[in-house]
Amino acid sequence: MGGNMKRISSWDPLKLRFVKNISGWKVNPISIGGRLTLVKAVMGSLPNIGATNEALLRYLCEKINQVAIGEGSDYYVWSLSNDVGYSVSRTRAHIDDYVLPSAHLSTMWCLQVPRKINIFVWRLALDRLPTRLNLSRRGLEIKSISCVLCNHVMESAHHLMFECEVAVELWRRVRLWIDLLLPRFTEWTDWIAWFEDWRESEDTKARLYVIGESTVWHIWRFRNSQLFEQPPMKRCILFDSIRLFSFNW
Ligand SMILES: [Zn+2]
Repeated sequence: MGGNMKRISSWDPLKLRFVKNISGWKVNPISIGGRLTLVKAVMGSLPNIGATNEALLRYLCEKINQVAIGEGSDYYVWSLSNDVGYSVSRTRAHIDDYVLPSAHLSTMWCLQVPRKINIFVWRLALDRLPTRLNLSRRGLEIKSISCVLCNHVMESAHHLMFECEVAVELWRRVRLWIDLLLPRFTEWTDWIAWFEDWRESEDTKARLYVIGESTVWHIWRFRNSQLFEQPPMKRCILFDSIRLFSFNW
């Protein structure tokens, strides 16, 4: 080799030559025995190897075991998805997995609805809406933490959106309207999890997602109107308004 072979860097030219030699192989994925034979064959074809160096052989075996050699031309593979290649949704899911590991939340941004609705839904998913329970947790002194709508239960986001009688009635009517056996959800993240597993066309899923966003948005609007508007929204117009917004967005 011409250099000090006790140094690892001295083996680099040999490693490079090895990799170059095996890159020309075009056979179906080969067995462990076949890989070993391949390594030995390539090693034997290289000049000035001298005695077998076990450490180098192990290194080269490791490297070749990581290589799947097949027929055809070389091509790029999107490592997040070997089957369909690059996709934005897989990338988003990957970012969600690593950036938001504790929350298990999807950064689902729906282009059909206004920006403020997406932000509202994102805050709902993070449980950051200023419900009475959340305000109390942040140390604000408020007269009551009971639900604005029913006054029976602590006002959490999941109670307001899925358990309060107003929400239960609205979701029931939504189910009838879309003629789909939606499960009973207890939190927005349950809805997202179900939605992501729901096998339907992208178009149908997008429409249902808009309806879901419209429903929770209207429940929140209705709740706020009871507190801050005079006169407040009428409950009887809620469902029609959900349908109207779902079409218009
Ligand atoms: Zn309630």
